[in-house]
Amino acid sequence: MTEIVRGAEWVLCRERGPGVPEGIYGAECMSCEARSPLFDDDELPVAVWSLQHTAEFPEHTLFLARTERHWRVVPRPHDPAPAQRPDTGGVLGPAFVGLMCLLTALSGLLPALTN
Ligand SMILES: [Zn+2]
Repeated sequence: MTEIVRGAEWVLCRERGPGVPEGIYGAECMSCEARSPLFDDDELPVAVWSLQHTAEFPEHTLFLARTERHWRVVPRPHDPAPAQRPDTGGVLGPAFVGLMCLLTALSGLLPALTN
């Protein structure tokens, strides 16, 4: 369901699950080095930060707004050979990948994302 790219051995998908934000929002000023804090699932604080920055520095009116998401690569489940499973191979494959992604997210294996 969230599969993005499928290779020969690996599948890249959107990371979802408890504690995984749908998006991480941030902005940086194009006139100086200022950067907003990052906010999970809410771009309004970033907009407020940008307005406040322009209020403080009236010349700084252009910002680069970013939305970041977590991706995860998981081993591709081996599809049954088409000759052996002609009825289900094309249907169960993506569904199984989606389940794999969900299970991976729920398993708490997020050491790089919890800091
Ligand atoms: Zn600035």
